[in-house]
Amino acid sequence: MVNAMKKRIIDYNLEGKKVIIRVDFNVPIKDGEILDDNRIKQSLETINYALEHNAKVILLSHLGRVKEESDKESNTLEPVALRLSELLDKEIIFVTETRGKILEDEINNMKNGDIILVENTRFEDIDGKKESGNDEELGAYWASLGDIFINDAFGTSHRSHASNVGIASNLPNGIGFLIEKELNVIEPAIKNPKRPFTVILGGSKVSDKIGVIKNLVNNADYILIGGGMAFTFLKSQGINIGSSLLDEENIDFCKKIMEENKDKIILPIDVVTSTNIDVPTDVREIFISDIKDKEIGLDIGHQTIKLFKSYLEDSNTIIWNGPVGKFENEEYANGTKELCKILDGKTTTIIGGGDTASAVINLGFKDSFTHISTGGGATLELLEGKKLPGIEIIEDK
Ligand code: AMP
Repeated sequence: MVNAMKKRIIDYNLEGKKVIIRVDFNVPIKDGEILDDNRIKQSLETINYALEHNAKVILLSHLGRVKEESDKESNTLEPVALRLSELLDKEIIFVTETRGKILEDEINNMKNGDIILVENTRFEDIDGKKESGNDEELGAYWASLGDIFINDAFGTSHRSHASNVGIASNLPNGIGFLIEKELNVIEPAIKNPKRPFTVILGGSKVSDKIGVIKNLVNNADYILIGGGMAFTFLKSQGINIGSSLLDEENIDFCKKIMEENKDKIILPIDVVTSTNIDVPTDVREIFISDIKDKEIGLDIGHQTIKLFKSYLEDSNTIIWNGPVGKFENEEYANGTKELCKILDGKTTTIIGGGDTASAVINLGFKDSFTHISTGGGATLELLEGKKLPGIEIIEDK
């Protein structure tokens, strides 16, 4: 396995040790209610392992963005502490301070098998972006609270923050089971895919996916393009895209990459359009050559689904990043839904995190894939061939 080189939680004797685990509890919360607890559930394996091995577990996570005092209330981790307590059927000591005597006293009073959840690490961003800017003093301070550091926050591992890179620089460290799982699925799929290897790209902007296209275009057998980004590609081929999403600056990039990879990059041949982006109006399913000036392409059509299916059916590795339609509206969810059905049960199917993960989960396909990543940005950077600083910093074996 690729990450067999990195130290893991199982490489340490945790008995009686204060183990700081950086988890990814950055979950959607509305009015104090957690809308999707998948990331909390995904972190349980590592937490349970530490508890079973008699550690004193100190959990750190960020939640949302915190720029000023008034952001604190809506970004407290308190609802997460309650949910975690339910999931583990165990008391969680929630500490409302990210540093200072209260936190230190709580840690000093811990018994083996206790868990502390520290308040949102990004509360430290109010005073000069200390967390997000990987302030040296903050990383060293948090490290001073524990004996061992385990990074299990895959979703933040593409960032160099005080709560991952900062702490890891100051303590013996390793990766947790979630990061291990993510790497063990995603890295071999990119580096040594079972062929044919097909990448599905969608979402709104071409600019977000340029790095992925450049990195994978030689390695992948096919790249199927849908979503808003397809229209910049279509425009680059001289097609009238009406009022569809256009990433003007990247038309030349699309044109060039299409010229070099005509048989590899597959574009939609029909689309579902509306004349109003918010309210479905005069909705039509038409060939791309029939798009009128006022029409906006918002989903792939049935002929495109059939075309994509012909590539996907034979593929043995499929990585999907970005919904192929404006799936939040039922009217434009069909393409994304149908692709889920085509992928269901196929050999290796990986869903990049972020919007694609919420799309397939919301559409009812949670169990249809080999892997749904917990990290949007982190997966994207792996697909771009980049190294993730939160994982790079972890000691090699
Ligand atoms: P991204 O964050 O770039 O992965 O984009 C995801 C967003 O792209 C989702 O919110 C979709 O609603 C949106 N999207 C997908 N297809 C289209 C489209 N044809 N036109 C506009 N937005 C789209």
